[in-house]
Amino acid sequence: MKYCSTRNSKLDKSFDQIIIEGLSSDGGLFMPKKWPLINTNEIFNNKNITYPELASIILKEFVGDTISKNDLEKITQETYQVFTNDKVAPLIKISDNKFILELFHGPTFAFKDYPLQLLGNLFQYYLKNKNKNITIIGATSGDTGSAAIDACKDKDNINIFILHPKDKTSEIQRKQMTTIRTNNVFNIAIDGTFDDCQNIVKSLLVSKDLKKITELSAVNSINWARIASQSVYFFWSYIQSAQYDKKVNFIVPTGNFGNVYAAHISGLMGLPINKLYVATNSNDIMHRTISNGDMSLKDVKSTISPSMDIQISSNFERQLFESLDYDSDKLTTLMENFRKNRSYNLKGKILDNLKLFYKSKGINDKLTSQTIKKFYDDFKYISDPHTATSLNILDELNNDDINIALACAHPAKFPDSIKDSINILPDQPKKLKDLLALEEKYRDLNNDVNVVKNYIIDNIKKL
Ligand SMILES: *Cc1c(COP(=O)(O)O)cnc(C)c1O
Repeated sequence: MKYCSTRNSKLDKSFDQIIIEGLSSDGGLFMPKKWPLINTNEIFNNKNITYPELASIILKEFVGDTISKNDLEKITQETYQVFTNDKVAPLIKISDNKFILELFHGPTFAFKDYPLQLLGNLFQYYLKNKNKNITIIGATSGDTGSAAIDACKDKDNINIFILHPKDKTSEIQRKQMTTIRTNNVFNIAIDGTFDDCQNIVKSLLVSKDLKKITELSAVNSINWARIASQSVYFFWSYIQSAQYDKKVNFIVPTGNFGNVYAAHISGLMGLPINKLYVATNSNDIMHRTISNGDMSLKDVKSTISPSMDIQISSNFERQLFESLDYDSDKLTTLMENFRKNRSYNLKGKILDNLKLFYKSKGINDKLTSQTIKKFYDDFKYISDPHTATSLNILDELNNDDINIALACAHPAKFPDSIKDSINILPDQPKKLKDLLALEEKYRDLNNDVNVVKNYIIDNIKKL
């Protein structure tokens, strides 16, 4: 399997190169040069298949010959052992054809654990073999940071710097990051939004000054390894529903467009998907884009689902590249126009192509909160506010397909919003309760690439 960039379709890189580089030096995102077809008969007929086994079958297609089948099986076994549910990602039945896929049974209680625990182990595998060290730089709207830090905190050959928008994550989300005290972990609070953090990270990843002193890598969903490993749970949920004569719809709470794009590639690899529903909060650029082509940036609003408070959905570039028939020149022109005008109007063939795969809805805080209450009243199901955006759509659907809404975070990560909606506090797992007493450590920095760059240069540990 070889990879190109959305900004240069002639590149020809292998998985071990693109997982470490994270972002292509031309500013584009890595993409596989062809879509592997998964032998769905085989995995659907295997009644005893486990999550780690499924993960190694799917990921083998993407890692190619950079990891042997045996080693990959070992890595996925080890990775998913730390998850606390025996199904790893259990499918909860709400009615005959409506389900919730719970993706919060990992160490930091959000779906990012599923790709990032694996990424940490893959990094370690490749670095050990090459005898190298790397510095990971990431931006977080709340959940990526803690999941990445947990996955890397004990790895010898990794330094990790995580930027979060100051005061814009929940208190628990922040404490999950800032109370980890191993000496390879650095938290930075940026005086700005998630998009500001993500822009700084994208500049740093291609910075020559930094590259002179360290190898750099990314843990945001701009890293293809994340998208590839997230595709596993879409297959997994369909296997758990065990209704192979039916098509499936997924409803995905969306910010950076990573999770819903992972759903989409599962379809390209053979999962019988009918439609993907993109659920946004009031930061609804993806809803406007898909419903009428209006890809225009607005100011980021703070909502009760902070991990979706994003305007520039990086992974949408991958979808656009695909919709433009993998023409990197056309994509580069489009992205330059978008960047310059902060707006782009999609029409004609591209918009038709998007509508083939996606539907969308924007769900504001009031509706989100009403949905938390409705699912508690109707099913005694307590959902976090991100999950509630997808449940709002799940509730409305009326079809003969299988419908699966993604539960992306544990409700206990957002106790205040739950209390406001149903007037009770969700049960707090012990690990989250214990956080409150721990001491925090992070650095406040201005929204300025050079300031952050200098901080990293001053603090990189010689590993
Ligand atoms: C990251 C995150 C999202 C958004 O996912 P994307 O892949 O960025 O679209 C939604 N909900 C939760 C809880 C998250 O942590």
